[in-house]
Amino acid sequence: MSGLGKGITTASIGRLLKNRGYEVTAVKIDPYLNIDAGTMNPAQHGEVFVLSDGGEVDLDLGNYERFLNISLKSIHNITTGKVYKNVIEKERRGDFLGATVQIIPHITDEIKHCIHRAAREPVNGNSTADVCMVEVGGTVGDIESMPFLEAIRQMHGELPPEDMLLVHVTLVPMDTMGDFKTKPTQHSVKTLRELGLQPDIIVARSREVIGPQTKKKISAFTDVPAKAVISAKDVPDIYQIPMELEKEGLADVVCSYLALDNREPDPAWYRVVSQEYTNRATVAIVSKYGIEDVYMSIKESLKHAGRALSTEVNIRWLDAETFDQKDLADVDGILIPGGFGQRGIEGKIRAIRYARENKKPFLGLCLGFQLAVIEYARHVVGIPDATSEEMGAGTHVIAILPEQEGVFDLGGTMRLGNCDVALKEGTRISGLYGRTEIVERHRHRYEVNPAFISEIEGAGLVFSGTCGERMEVCELPDHPFFLATQFHPEFKSSPTHPSPPYVGFVDACKKNKSTSE
Ligand code: GLN
Repeated sequence: MSGLGKGITTASIGRLLKNRGYEVTAVKIDPYLNIDAGTMNPAQHGEVFVLSDGGEVDLDLGNYERFLNISLKSIHNITTGKVYKNVIEKERRGDFLGATVQIIPHITDEIKHCIHRAAREPVNGNSTADVCMVEVGGTVGDIESMPFLEAIRQMHGELPPEDMLLVHVTLVPMDTMGDFKTKPTQHSVKTLRELGLQPDIIVARSREVIGPQTKKKISAFTDVPAKAVISAKDVPDIYQIPMELEKEGLADVVCSYLALDNREPDPAWYRVVSQEYTNRATVAIVSKYGIEDVYMSIKESLKHAGRALSTEVNIRWLDAETFDQKDLADVDGILIPGGFGQRGIEGKIRAIRYARENKKPFLGLCLGFQLAVIEYARHVVGIPDATSEEMGAGTHVIAILPEQEGVFDLGGTMRLGNCDVALKEGTRISGLYGRTEIVERHRHRYEVNPAFISEIEGAGLVFSGTCGERMEVCELPDHPFFLATQFHPEFKSSPTHPSPPYVGFVDACKKNKSTSE
């Protein structure tokens, strides 16, 4: 079921194989009719993750990229919407030559085609991965996921036995007496078997470690050998999960099913993610939604930067509409994330002003960048009604991107994905990246209005990164750390490659802490 940690389990199994020198890729199947996550409300579905090719996808692809250090494409997120769209387009073209077009075989064939195509897509340059993880979202037995499970049942019959294995992630709750209950697992496996799918491995999610007795019981009901019933208890840090699964012997089981050599694992990943913290810093995130999943990549990027600086970052979530200025006084830094629409923007502008005037480290992302420009225009440049065209009447220091004018469809039409950004030599941002040419991911419709650039720069805000005519980074030289980016650096951060703007920000927060103590 959703929220159980299927995404992290998928990414972690991939990591176990990657640690053994196998190249791994991953596919997420989302059984909804939306073509992609781009038009979905993040409060319901979590963050919209953006890929290098501009794909707006499920946040689990962010987990795959962070755990596996790979760069995925839109084709790695298969949705019911994409599958049906392809089949209906083929039908209109006449590709089916008079046949009655049906869920089986036409939809299931398309699903299999999409999985095979995504699996073959090279990761990290040229070679095709050795193993492709395919995660089916949703709950076993849902009407929505039936065609996908049927396609997987067919693949199981078509592929040699050592080319495919099925992992079932289940919840093993504890009753009030502290005993594990295996009933939900028994029932979900029964439902799977009715669909013709027998799991090879069960990953049992629970609060505490599941012992041999419970494993034996699950094994007896499901025909999954006890050594392939893997205990995955809750842990405070998701990056520790591969290590937990390693201790459970999961890699042995996976390698033997897939006829892969179980090589000695490279310990580098474990070293990175188990670094001790020696410092602490508190960051306020002033946001519209009080839901952490909406800001998943930001949260993770702060963690990656914190690890690299041995600094545990605590986040104070502040509601942009209701927060009290007092809540900013004792934090070490202020972060304003991306977002859309008017709600909450005045509060975010208030927080940015506080950071600027009180010399608190500040990081602005996308909308946070645009609001930093608006705040500066209002209170330093002297344009009191400065705002963004997105927000309504006023002086539009942030205006619609020229190519966005007249765009009415909302799906997949923003400025999306990778763009080259040139950084000005000698600025804070070029120092953080250690170079002057970078590539980062985007997702927006508005930009700094070119008509105001020289006036704003004349008043002291430095645009230190650009993409042609487009302003991409702003910073203040006479401030401990005041930096904002039109792009989203959080989409490229991982534990082993923390994002430079986040590293700069967390480092400034850490220093802020030591000067205030
Ligand atoms: N709403 C703003 C725009 O479309 C910012 C988008 C964002 O923060 N991702 O330009």
